[in-house]
Amino acid sequence: MSKYLKPEHAAFYRLQVLSAERISPGFVRITLGGESLSSFRYMGYDHWFRLFLPQPGQSEPRVPTATSMLWYAQYLTFSKDTKPVVRNYTVRDFRPAGSGLHGEGTEMDVDFVVHGAEHGGHAGPASSWAVRAAPGDHVAIFDEGRIYNPNTEASWQLLVGDESAAPAVLGILRSAPEDSRVRAFIEVPTEADIQKQDVPPGVELTWIVRPNLQAKPGDAALAAVQKAELPEGEPFVYVAGEQGLATGLRRYLVNERSVPKSQICFTGYWKFGKAAP
Ligand SMILES: Cc1cc2nc3c(=O)[nH]c(=O)nc-3n(C[C@H](O)[C@H](O)[C@H](O)COP(=O)(O)OP(=O)(O)OC[C@H]3O[C@@H](n4cnc5c(N)ncnc54)[C@H](O)[C@@H]3O)c2cc1C
Repeated sequence: MSKYLKPEHAAFYRLQVLSAERISPGFVRITLGGESLSSFRYMGYDHWFRLFLPQPGQSEPRVPTATSMLWYAQYLTFSKDTKPVVRNYTVRDFRPAGSGLHGEGTEMDVDFVVHGAEHGGHAGPASSWAVRAAPGDHVAIFDEGRIYNPNTEASWQLLVGDESAAPAVLGILRSAPEDSRVRAFIEVPTEADIQKQDVPPGVELTWIVRPNLQAKPGDAALAAVQKAELPEGEPFVYVAGEQGLATGLRRYLVNERSVPKSQICFTGYWKFGKAAP
């Protein structure tokens, strides 16, 4: 099973913030737009990208010219004060030209988890940027395509994520065929962070509210799956979020529920107490 479904044309897109809204205590929704976005081929599901943010004093991030995997080698040669902050994010929603909320152009929504001291954790440059972002701010993205790629005949699917993977799990549910059989679990910091979304009839989506803001993200989702009565038959499993959730759930499903490793797509999105490299 191939882990990634890469875009046909890997490319950088220079974009501007069209709007920034604190949609709930734990999330800021940023809408991005710009001329180049009209050539972005949205693949649905958990389509993700690398986000490039400017350094203080720069109005736009410096972006590598190479678009193959060579971009990273070039990025490493940038001096410290011009090297953009790079973090990974998911397309929460995509509106082609003519169907946008902020004009005639193509638009992309991104939901950023807010994770500062007020949430019992540490801030990072990307979440801090999102909290301060305003219309007209410049960013760039590098298209990475999809991780979710269930090349399998499994009779049902199990999707699990913490709040950082809420856009991915909700994106998969939005793109899923109408006859999908899915059990999905999404953990969020507070009740107010639960997002409304219609799902196909065969989908049972459970929102789990963290018991308190000091608890480690992902632990409550892991416990919920361990307690859950799950459908019979071999599932395809997709789990993403804090590293301990991804590896802990995989270990549990392999050891306690006899799910073959090959049926589990697990991705550590971030690591508790450790900034992204
Ligand atoms: C494929 C992919 C898609 C992703 N999509 C999204 C998305 O759509 N929305 C989203 O919000 N995140 C998403 N993430 C996760 C995001 O890339 C990380 O959370 C990233 O570390 C945030 O960068 P930062 O600069 O805010 O914090 P960093 O500088 O990386 O970290 C600073 C501190 O914050 C902590 N931290 C990092 N992330 C979180 C968090 N989510 N909650 C609590 N503490 C945290 C770290 O442990 C560290 O102590 C995705 C990751 C991947 C790999």
